[in-house]
Amino acid sequence: MPRPEYDCENCGACCRCFPIFASEADAEREPAIRRETRQLESHLATKDKAYQMHPLPFLESCAFLKEDQLCRIYATRPAVCRRFEAGSAQCIEARERMGVRRQDGS
Ligand code: SF4
Ligand code: SF4
Repeated sequence: MPRPEYDCENCGACCRCFPIFASEADAEREPAIRRETRQLESHLATKDKAYQMHPLPFLESCAFLKEDQLCRIYATRPAVCRRFEAGSAQCIEARERMGVRRQDGS
């Protein structure tokens, strides 16, 4: 259950902080992944990592993060993004590293 003090709106820290990869299954569900990210060479690809979403040249965040910090492909986003939980240790680390404050201001 997401913790209310960690609000994803106006955040997007996790979409800019860590390396992000999508699988072939993710790309089947969302074809824009094939068009807009970098396909890993076959000797580097794994079941879960077939496309590099972030980092990519000239981009400071995942290619699908919009200016309003929301996801352009939210309904069909990769499994790794679906598993990422607001308020988790990784979420808190991402927010700290990206300088995003909590709703209570701390
Ligand atoms: S870092 Fe946490 S609060 Fe921010 S968008 Fe990601 S999951 Fe949501
Ligand atoms: S696909 Fe969407 S949720 Fe996943 S990292 Fe990119 S912008 Fe964030």
